[in-house]
Amino acid sequence: MAGSLEKGRVYIVGAGPGDPELITVKGLNLLRSADVIVYDRLAPKELLSHARKGAELIYAGKAPGAHSMSQEEINRLLLEKAKMGLTVVRLKGGDPLVFGRGEEECMFLVSHGIECHIVPGIPSFLGAAAYARIPLTSRGYSSSFAVVTGREAEDKGFKSVRLKDVARAVDTIIILMGASRSAEILGELAEVLGDNARGAIVMNATREDQLVLEGSLSELLELARKGAVKNPAVIIIGSPVSLRGKLWLGNAGSS
Ligand code: SAH
Repeated sequence: MAGSLEKGRVYIVGAGPGDPELITVKGLNLLRSADVIVYDRLAPKELLSHARKGAELIYAGKAPGAHSMSQEEINRLLLEKAKMGLTVVRLKGGDPLVFGRGEEECMFLVSHGIECHIVPGIPSFLGAAAYARIPLTSRGYSSSFAVVTGREAEDKGFKSVRLKDVARAVDTIIILMGASRSAEILGELAEVLGDNARGAIVMNATREDQLVLEGSLSELLELARKGAVKNPAVIIIGSPVSLRGKLWLGNAGSS
């Protein structure tokens, strides 16, 4: 290890939304051969059982508001391990380039001459849609969707998500990182779409403890005000939510 002339490399791997079986074959193979795995809070922990014997596992998780390792520290860690000649897998929940800061880590590594590869993962909203049986597009219901963040980075100094404009422009609206502001978000959407627009909130999507709240915007708003929306949650608003009941065998034909 020490003195190795071989340069290490970093694979930024999307672990998928939560069900450990939803990682790609490529991601899993990389995980199996990695010397070091640096994993996030939302990456399924079960996947770590695939690490080879002797691999170093490092938790870099960040709960909202409580950072266990700063982004700068994570960047430095990846760089340090790669410089030691090690193969590093940086395991992230969902897809690394969907609100995942994978690009920031990759830019940092590349700027220090380290080879960096990005392996996609199924993002949480696609996992949530499939496992909660909500088509994001469907003929006659929705021909477009948008994915937006419910929370802007505090240091950005401007508001780039104009939720009401998005709601006017697309048929299905998906909000990530919106749990803590869910009441505000649903209220804002109701102003454009009306109280009766359909929506669903999928918590712990694709995991065994997945929980779905479904209803009109006013019903969901009431639940949100009571604190029923817990992190991590994907909020999906749009008429295809009403098709859910028809996508289960037991429910076929029910409304
Ligand atoms: N890169 C991730 C997103 C990271 S941002 C992706 O591709 O999905 C973190 C947000 O993702 C959370 O606030 C939540 O909105 C969403 N999220 C991630 N995993 C989730 C899960 N299992 N269930 C519901 N939402 C999830």
